[in-house]
Amino acid sequence: MVSKNKYLRELPKVDEVLDLPDVRLLAGAYPRSMVVDGIRHVIDNRRSVILSLQEKDLVSIELSMQALIEELEGWLKEQYASSLRRVINATGVVIHTNLGRSILSKSAIDAVVMAASNYSNLEFDLDRGARGSRHSHIESILTKITGAEAGMVVNNNASAVFLALSTLAAGKEAIVSRGQLVEIGGSFRIPDVMRQSGAILREVGTTNKTYIADYRAAVTENTALLMKVHTSNFRIIGFTHEASLEEMVNLSWELGIPIMEDLGSGVLIDLSRYGVAYEPTVHESVHAGVDVITFSGDKLLGGPQAGLVVGKAEFINQMKKHPLARAVRVDKMTLAALEATLREYLDMEAVHHKNPTIRMITTPADKLKKRADKIAKMLVKSLEDGFVVTTEPEVSRVGGGSLPLAELATTVISVRTKSATANALEEALRRNDPPVIVRIKEDAVLLDPRTIQDGEEKEIVEAFEKVKRELKG
Ligand SMILES: *Cc1c(COP(=O)(O)O)cnc(C)c1O
Repeated sequence: MVSKNKYLRELPKVDEVLDLPDVRLLAGAYPRSMVVDGIRHVIDNRRSVILSLQEKDLVSIELSMQALIEELEGWLKEQYASSLRRVINATGVVIHTNLGRSILSKSAIDAVVMAASNYSNLEFDLDRGARGSRHSHIESILTKITGAEAGMVVNNNASAVFLALSTLAAGKEAIVSRGQLVEIGGSFRIPDVMRQSGAILREVGTTNKTYIADYRAAVTENTALLMKVHTSNFRIIGFTHEASLEEMVNLSWELGIPIMEDLGSGVLIDLSRYGVAYEPTVHESVHAGVDVITFSGDKLLGGPQAGLVVGKAEFINQMKKHPLARAVRVDKMTLAALEATLREYLDMEAVHHKNPTIRMITTPADKLKKRADKIAKMLVKSLEDGFVVTTEPEVSRVGGGSLPLAELATTVISVRTKSATANALEEALRRNDPPVIVRIKEDAVLLDPRTIQDGEEKEIVEAFEKVKRELKG
């Protein structure tokens, strides 16, 4: 029997490994100090393996130099890999907050690259040759599209709500219906945001019923704001009543108290035209006469993360001047992406071709079925026996707390195998490069073509082939 000491003695020295031709190549691609760290790491690994085994088991371990170099290369790759990686979204959830919400249109991506790689007139007025405002780039297009008097952009809708409350109601009362004191994913809670802003929350009505008379009865000389919140991610159904936007605007005018609305998703086109559930649009709120309206840039708008504010110039100008505005301002890449995204809304007929979020939400069911059939066929051909691949009717969700009840008809590809549970299959796909994120239903994983991008079909098939090899091995 060979002794452990012999194995330990035969462990290579760092310099010895560093001198190998293959490793010299690696030292050209990675910083030398990192390659040295890597060599120490893999040698240490080997030492621990040798020490942990019984002497009789030592013969079975792989000690070739080739294996060591492969391990080194893997380690270096891992150290250098970005933490933020592309994933394939096969969940069918279009605005998937965990997967980055909206993906940008081609023109928005080009605009980001332009802004990132060049100087720009971000805060420079080219006509006057003097300092300009970063708000100006978005304001004209935002007002043109929504019909509002004024507009501004901040970091996200949470900060838009915070800035609006801080500007309009700090130290004063803001009246909100109990049915609208919601929590939006990731701990955005209306009562908490109000407290932080310094506004004093005056709750009115009950969870299921609030009348306009409840608001009227709650008004005091300290009331600064009426607030309406779109309950985005949940619905109260059955025995319910909400004061309408018109009633609230009328009350606001009668009493001379401004009204704000947190619209959440803030859709700019009427999705019911495409057979998708109705969601109140920004235009309707503007038209109704709401003073300050806030909504997200990366939910149903399909743009970058941002908080958009539109409404009356009187109030928006106050918000722009508030000290918090600087703390929540957007960077130039966001502005560039947002301007390009909004520009596409100038042609409402073409938006659903150009904006990926709108396109995915409005993809017709027959088109999805064709894509599902095609992907299923590719999988059947390459996986052969051992895997059961079928297609079946299902529903996709919009996600991002938008249109929670909307069920978008789709066809999914269902894959199951006797060799692994659905959970194990899901995990293996998630560990692929690129990771493929799927849904689980009973003993199968489901892939929804709605959110699978063109060109990703082949990568999905390759991911399954790899999983199949791993299950065999
Ligand atoms: C999503 C949402 C928010 C938070 O918006 P972010 O852009 O994620 O900051 C606030 N209010 C409502 C009603 C929402 O739906």
